Amino acid sequence: MSERRKLLIVGSGPAGLTAATYAARANLAPMVIEGIAAGGQLMLTTDVENYPGFPDGIMGPELMVKMREQAARFGAEFVTADADRVDLSAAPFGVWVGGDEHRADAIVITTGASARMLGLPAEQRLLGHGVSTCATCDGFFFRDKALAIVGGGDSAIEEALFLTKFATKVTLVHRRHELRASKIMQERAFANDKIDFLWNSVITDVNGDQQVESLDVRDVVTDETSKLDVGGLFVAIGHDPNTALFAGQLDLDENGYIVTEADSTRSSIEGVFAAGDVQDHVYRQAVTAAGSGCMAAIEAERWLEERAHAAATARA
Ligand code: NAP
Repeated sequence: MSERRKLLIVGSGPAGLTAATYAARANLAPMVIEGIAAGGQLMLTTDVENYPGFPDGIMGPELMVKMREQAARFGAEFVTADADRVDLSAAPFGVWVGGDEHRADAIVITTGASARMLGLPAEQRLLGHGVSTCATCDGFFFRDKALAIVGGGDSAIEEALFLTKFATKVTLVHRRHELRASKIMQERAFANDKIDFLWNSVITDVNGDQQVESLDVRDVVTDETSKLDVGGLFVAIGHDPNTALFAGQLDLDENGYIVTEADSTRSSIEGVFAAGDVQDHVYRQAVTAAGSGCMAAIEAERWLEERAHAAATARA
């Protein structure tokens, strides 16, 4: 077992790294279990144009490297592996990474959310062979191909726009007749003549042996089926919170997000705080995640202080 710490942070996206910076500056000597895929969803992004302080934008991975450096500068430590078990039954809380046990008086959970998939067998088989959840990571490999993207939110539009840099044509397949995306993103997509829209449509199969060759599509209004010839499918239908580790130990909502008190990052267990996309299904922005990571560190610090004060008073 490693030494007992004041604070462990599980997850290393904007929420986790901001919590680490604040906690380190408050002398809590935090350890961040950053995961194998450290950095969170911004590692899968190119330009971030709406993070304050970067008027010309910044690449997602570069922003995360900077956040990590900032936390490390104040003494935050990192374990680059996934947590495989937690024990939140009583403080000091336990987090296991491989064979190593870590204990802390408080925990901040910032494990974020993961891309949702359509659930088709061929989608899994062809993942990495024409099926992708990240246009910004894989778009380059699809130069001069016709591509499809499924989803109607900001992610789908953002990725469709990005893919037009490489593709001959991008067909956005959406299950309804109107987009969920913000108006400004919709306008950009409608103005781009490389993007076609297939409304009221669902993908029922992905065809191809070694590579994606076409999609089977069904119109949900007419029930008509058609084949869409594309060299790649990008799935952009939202995310699920990464909370499997905590199920049964913490209160989760019906979609699996960690429930936190209003205007707070306090979870259903005293001393356990949650910040970022793992508890936020409304805003889901890097800046709101960073903001709630800051809240979690401040709340953890106050909670630890109150606890220490109560223990000292009890001894006196
Ligand atoms: P989202 O807003 O939840 O949109 C998911 C889209 O996928 C919806 O259009 C949904 O259809 C569709 N969908 C869900 N499950 C599906 C299924 N099984 N089959 C087919 N379609 C399915 O997710 P998101 O686009 O990833 O965005 C998440 C959050 O991040 C949002 O708050 C968004 O504003 C934000 N975001 C912002 C930016 C930006 O500002 N630059 C960029 C990316 C994301 P329905 O519409 O019918 O439900």
